[in-house]
Amino acid sequence: MIAEEIKRIHSILPEGVELCAVSKFHPAAAIKEAYDAGQRIFGESRVRELLEKIPQLPSDIKWHFIGHLQTNKVRQIIGKTYIIESVDSLRLLDLIDRESERAGVVTKVLMQLHVAREETKFGFYPEELLDYFSSRGFENLRSTHICGVMGMASNTDDMERVREDFHTIADTFNRILEANPDLRGFNVVSMGMSGDWPVAVDEGANLVRIGTAIFGERQY
Ligand SMILES: *Cc1c(COP(=O)(O)O)cnc(C)c1O
Repeated sequence: MIAEEIKRIHSILPEGVELCAVSKFHPAAAIKEAYDAGQRIFGESRVRELLEKIPQLPSDIKWHFIGHLQTNKVRQIIGKTYIIESVDSLRLLDLIDRESERAGVVTKVLMQLHVAREETKFGFYPEELLDYFSSRGFENLRSTHICGVMGMASNTDDMERVREDFHTIADTFNRILEANPDLRGFNVVSMGMSGDWPVAVDEGANLVRIGTAIFGERQY
């Protein structure tokens, strides 16, 4: 069933849109099933769970960290992920940069935007992120590469609302690029989950994060 769903989603995703299979709370065996169906990008939201899974699975998996990252856990995951999608404060960004330099690696990150009305409290408001780029804050980074933005829509059945949120995320991404045309490798718009990803793709996502539709309900 996992393999079928992976193949089905890949067959309908437009070209240029990547799938991050969100495997949090699901066992390594489920991830292996998706891997054997060709999936290579997986998303995890807890440091300990990620660190337990990595050695049990093939080394060519690209692990995306997508959860709120506590500053006291940064050191543990530097060098272990392909990208940290959920940078939600400048303090966290700075720490990732320092720990990456210390470890001698460059860490790729996405800046998480806060657009949903309720739900998570985490992330930058669009204007905050625009200010960060306008003031060229990224020029101080030594070992971190900001590759784009990530965000979540409001948790609602109102698809117009959801569409607006995705529109705001993509629009913020575009405004950052317009204001800083010299940015290099800033090209990822990560948005869309099981219940809303087609709308996200429609609004400009090029990376979707799908968990439940692939692996089933999570047992928390
Ligand atoms: C859990 C999670 C997802 C996947 O959600 P589903 O509804 O299971 O597809 C996507 N993005 C983030 C940030 C998540 O925490």
